[in-house]
Amino acid sequence: MNAAARELYVCSGCSTLSRGGPQGERCPRCGAALSFRKPQSLARTWAFLAAAIILYVPANVLPVMHTEWLTGSQDDTILSGVLYLLWSGSWPLALVVFIASISVPLLKIVTLGGLAASVQLGSTWRPQSRARAYRVVEFIGRWSMLDIYVVAILTALVQAKALAHIEPGPGALAFAAVVVLTMLAALSFDPRLIWDASRDAAC
Ligand SMILES: [Zn+2]
Repeated sequence: MNAAARELYVCSGCSTLSRGGPQGERCPRCGAALSFRKPQSLARTWAFLAAAIILYVPANVLPVMHTEWLTGSQDDTILSGVLYLLWSGSWPLALVVFIASISVPLLKIVTLGGLAASVQLGSTWRPQSRARAYRVVEFIGRWSMLDIYVVAILTALVQAKALAHIEPGPGALAFAAVVVLTMLAALSFDPRLIWDASRDAAC
């Protein structure tokens, strides 16, 4: 038995438990809109995920950094930046950039896609594990801006070393969009949906 089955709303604004106010689906305490689950949770998660997957391609294929100096210019993608760091001997930094910029967004997309697909199919498979996976994605979300810091550190490093002019490339814009879109996808997903299928199966 859960609150939704007893037609009790939990207010997202003030956590009040209620059957809705007199003027409809509004919290009687603070007036926030009430719903049993996040509205259109799955549709929104899928939409944000699809956009993130599409933009993940240009984020990795297009240059994220355009460097110009006296003798020439160079365009770097995330991967070529990682390889450059690796060759120049700064492998710890190469590892940080690889994890933050390539692995983490991919991990978030794959995990959220798997969670959304499992809810869509009404799966009752290991809800504890799936709930834990969602918490991990949510936790990583708080550190998503790490990617932006990495680009900032890289820019500072290169500018300190050489008299170069650095500009962000179109890939950086796509990359920032992927970070924001995966955060929105995680925010749209309602982890309570994982437990709804298990409860329905038990009934
Ligand atoms: Zn409220």
